[in-house]
Order: sequence, then C-alpha cells, then structure tokens
Amino acid sequence: MSLPLTAVSDSAVFSSARWHALADQVLAGTAVSREDALAVLRSEDLELLDVLAAAYRIRHRYFGNVVKLNFLVNAKSGHCPEDCGYCSQSRFAKTTEIERYKLNSREEILEKAEACVASGATTCCLVISGRGPTEKEMQRVEEAVREVKASYPALKVCACLGLLTPEQAVRLKDAGVERLNHNLNTSQGFYDKVCTTHTYEDRVATLEAAKHAGLSLCSGGIAGMGESDEQLVEMAFALAALPVDSIPVNFLHAVPGTAMEHLTDTLTPRQCLRILCMFRFTNPTREVRVSGGRELHLRTLQPMSLYPANAIFAADYLTTEGQSVAQDVAMIEELGFTVERVDPVDGDVPSSETAPPPVAAR
Ligand code: SF4
Repeated sequence: MSLPLTAVSDSAVFSSARWHALADQVLAGTAVSREDALAVLRSEDLELLDVLAAAYRIRHRYFGNVVKLNFLVNAKSGHCPEDCGYCSQSRFAKTTEIERYKLNSREEILEKAEACVASGATTCCLVISGRGPTEKEMQRVEEAVREVKASYPALKVCACLGLLTPEQAVRLKDAGVERLNHNLNTSQGFYDKVCTTHTYEDRVATLEAAKHAGLSLCSGGIAGMGESDEQLVEMAFALAALPVDSIPVNFLHAVPGTAMEHLTDTLTPRQCLRILCMFRFTNPTREVRVSGGRELHLRTLQPMSLYPANAIFAADYLTTEGQSVAQDVAMIEELGFTVERVDPVDGDVPSSETAPPPVAAR
C-alpha cells in the first residue's frame, strides 16, 4: 500500500504559498488582518517551517541577519505594592526565590552598567520595581544615567520605572534616557485578570507621556497567562497602533508563589515560535525581542526564534536566570547571524576582528 505522501506534499505546498503570500502583502505595505494573525497562531505544526520562513523574509527586509542584545539592570527588586499576577516582585507574591532589595546606590548602578558594556549589549535597560518612582528614586536614576552616559555616550539607556507622570518622563529624557519600557502586558479585555491595582489605561497614559517627552517606546507583553489567541492578537494590534519602536515578547515563567504559579503548561516551544511570527507579521518594522521565558519555553528551538525576532536579552532576566552571554553569542553565530556591535563610547561599529569578545557577564 502506498504512503499518502502526495497528500502531505500538496498540503505543504498550499500552506507554503499561503504564508509567503501573506509576507508579500506585508512587504508591499499592506497590514495583515486580525483573521490572518489568528491563523498564524493556529497554523498546523506541518506549516511551521513555512510560517517561519515567511516571517523571516519580513525580518530580513528590515533587520537583515543582525541580532541586537539588550541587558537588564535590576536596580530595585521586590517590595512592590501592585498585584500583577505574573510578577514575583509583587508584595502579594509568596515566593521565597527572589532577592529583594531597595534601589541600588549610584555606584552599584554604574557597576551593573559596566557589566552591560562588558556583555557587548548595545542597550542597557534600567529597571526598578514599584508602581512608579518616588522623588528620591527619580533623582538617583537621573544621577546614575547622567554618569553612565558621560562614560558611554553611545550606550543606549532604556528606563523601566513603572507608571510615570509627564513631568517625570521629561526629566528622564533630559538625563539622557533614550527609551522607556512600559509593557501593555496583555490585551485591554484581559487586563483585569492580570492586575487590579492599576489599569490598562494607566499604562497607555505612561506610554503617551513618554512619547510626548520625546522618548522612544519599548512596549510588549507576556504570553501564556491564560489569555485567548484573540486576546494575544488584540495586544499585537494595540501595539501596532501605538508609536512603539521595540516589542519585548515574554513567555510566562510561572514562578512558585505568584498568583499565576499554576500556569506552567500554557505554552509549547512551537506555539512560542508561532507567537513570535504573529508579532512579526503584525509589527513588521518594529524590533521584536524574545524576552523572559526564552530558555524555559523555547528550549531546543531557541535558535529558530531569531527567524522572526531580531533582538534578545543577554544574560539574566529580572528575577530568573538566562543562559550565558557566550551561549547566546554562539547560538547567534552558529545560525549564521551576527550580533549588533556598537562601540559604547564613540558609537563606531567595530570590525569583527577588533570587536572585543563578550565574556564578563553571565
Ligand atoms: S508594577 Fe512591576 S514590579 Fe510591581 S508587581 Fe507589577 S510588574 Fe511587578
């Protein structure tokens, strides 16, 4: 009896044409529909390589084969009065697994920025836990950022300080911060299942204040929190409608003791790839960064995430460990991609012969 190879092959050819037609449409400047975005999330395993190949054509048009490294500096951890269900830094979380500390001293922040430079990352993301910064915290962040920029003028500094007033956003810009991170996290319709102490609208207001202050925007979300496919698509479209330059895509790391500790099996490595492809199709020109939960959820498929995405976090996340920078660089280079390198002092792009190896950070 003959094997049904023809049927499989016909189906694959059909799906290949479908996803490449969608990439053609995006490359010609026409946005995908919500139905198409949903179809990406619900595509068959048999179609995965074609979906990835089509998303890669879009990634390649705007970002070539370059991978940008971001480096997180967790300058204040825990003690947060907010109740974000995914977050181990909330005071409602009963996790014993994380370090909790007040805002680092100026010297400690500078030391961590040095580790960022040593890692070879081009963006340093300065993060503090909390609903929003106090006046004292604002002043220390401003001071530290001024010093970091004095030593490394070409190192991009991104701040993630919680909800901000328009005046605080202007002060950060004046201190030398280039970008503000403030994630939408999920769709408007699902937001109250994730957090009740502030609203989706509060988050959008902070993004608007940052944009008004002249800051570049970084905003993304977390998949795997129990949201529906439609809600994931809704978030991707909300981000597409905002002037966001960079989209971190996190996969829920269900830390024991958090309200979402039970959500350990909401994602598979292949679904994570489909999610990244959906973000690439819906936000073709924006930086898409594979973020928290990368190692945990993508596992052996991690390198494939770089076909739709063009950036990653190097080293550790806020309260969980990532793989080493050396492993990240090896993964990128073995794929035939290159790490974005910018001299943090003069902004030059070093040649591959003169670029220092990124070794110091984990
Ligand atoms: S506001 Fe930030 S630090 Fe606080 S619980 Fe929410 S995510 Fe965590």
